Amino acid sequence: MEYIKNYINGQLIEPLDKKYLDNFNPATGKVYSYIPDSDENDVDKAYQAAKAAFPAWSSLSKNKRSDYLIRIAQLIEQNLDRLALAESIDNGKPLKLAKTVDIPRAAANFHFYGTGILHYAAPTHSMEDTAINYTLRQAVGVAGCISPWNLPLYLFSWKIAPALAAGCTVVAKPSEVTPMTAFLLSEICIEAGLPAGVLNIVHGLGGKVGNAIVSHRDIPLISFTGGTVTGKQIASIAAPMFKKLSLELGGKNPNIIFADCDYDKMLATTIHSSFSNQGQICLCGSRIFIERPLYEKFKKDFIEKTKQLKVGNPLDDATKVGAIVSKPHQEKILSYVELAKQEGGKVLCGGEAVKLDGDFKEGYYIAPTIIEGLAYNCRTNQEEIFGPVVTITPFDTEEEALMMANSTMYGLASVVWTEHLTRAHRMANQIHAGIVWINCWLLRDLRTPFGGVKASGVGREGGFEAFDFFTEPKNVCIKLS
Ligand code: NAD
Repeated sequence: MEYIKNYINGQLIEPLDKKYLDNFNPATGKVYSYIPDSDENDVDKAYQAAKAAFPAWSSLSKNKRSDYLIRIAQLIEQNLDRLALAESIDNGKPLKLAKTVDIPRAAANFHFYGTGILHYAAPTHSMEDTAINYTLRQAVGVAGCISPWNLPLYLFSWKIAPALAAGCTVVAKPSEVTPMTAFLLSEICIEAGLPAGVLNIVHGLGGKVGNAIVSHRDIPLISFTGGTVTGKQIASIAAPMFKKLSLELGGKNPNIIFADCDYDKMLATTIHSSFSNQGQICLCGSRIFIERPLYEKFKKDFIEKTKQLKVGNPLDDATKVGAIVSKPHQEKILSYVELAKQEGGKVLCGGEAVKLDGDFKEGYYIAPTIIEGLAYNCRTNQEEIFGPVVTITPFDTEEEALMMANSTMYGLASVVWTEHLTRAHRMANQIHAGIVWINCWLLRDLRTPFGGVKASGVGREGGFEAFDFFTEPKNVCIKLS
């Protein structure tokens, strides 16, 4: 069985205490590798390496930094099959999804930021004949990057790539639930010749490794993606230390469907926005609001299509819904289905664990679930479930749809289906969310600002916003005479 290693100062090394955690394959429920159970001493070792590497890396030309990132992107592309297989086994997601979405996007992240940095410029402000101001954008220092398990390499690279391109060195922690592709990325960085200490990856638990990064007194900025409760805890430690903070947190996204929509496109996309990656994408639309004249037709067709989704071995090409990432997460999702029933909801399909045969009988599977008959403000409709569970609710007016959509503490993403142009603009204007998709879902241009409002986060990733985060602006004012 494989022992994953930390990547510190350009080397793959054991945790200092030589302690390891079990790493489970969610499709089989079996331990298949071991993860370093690192602690604050490993984090400090990684910090020292990143600190030593910072002066040379931050003063390297943008072109040279760009070359390294593009080389890493190329190596990810060359290792697509191997990385996709590792991601699927580690996370439980269908191999097809890892091959077409997760790994290509990880390569794209390195490519996008590797080239983006060449176009990043800062403004000047002229005071006519008196003076000229120019802004220097300087890398902040050693960046702490912490990511979740749902899109492991995709989100890990979404932080690391802009940090490195901007000239920061990095101490990063992937989720302990899905460490494998971050480990494979360490090997790729070594092959790419990335200078020692520029990127350091420390594996282990959130409460130990994550907390040590967040509370390290010399790490001045934290980029975090994960749950809202964890984000709150991180903010409580980092804010009094005046660290720069980017928090990408949970969501409970509305999918609002008007009767005039392009029905077939809407139905096909709503299946994806509900159940892709077993519903474990922070952008999935878990509350579906349907204009009343369309409600019964939508309900019938949506149930029929959902029942056709094959739940099974993630490595099988026919599988549409793979395994839930862990046993505790499977139990959490099923507890929300029980809660929905107590709150008066009717389970229209799914609602239970799926038992597979043979090697997969201990795996963590849940049938895609649709629930109706719930009040918009009950707990099931307000709290993030993060699984293959959606609720459907009819509405009569735009105002009512908006009121229900905006009723949660979250505000990450939203979807609106309508062919009515001005209504689409009106809705986009009034929805409380960082992203509004009109007649589509998960269509991503990496230049656009990405992030949420309210309890879904603070700050934005994507495009030059990420470079703004990983650099500090300094105004230089020159008197002309
Ligand atoms: P999580 O908050 O449990 O863990 C995220 C990461 O933080 C992991 O690496 C974990 O080890 C670490 N961590 C845990 N406790 C910590 C602590 N006290 N200090 C520092 N680090 C700590 O989240 P998760 O269960 O891995 O991921 C699911 C959540 O992530 C969902 O809420 C989902 O909506 C959210 N998410 C948000 C986005 C977004 O872009 N907004 C994207 C993906 C996932």
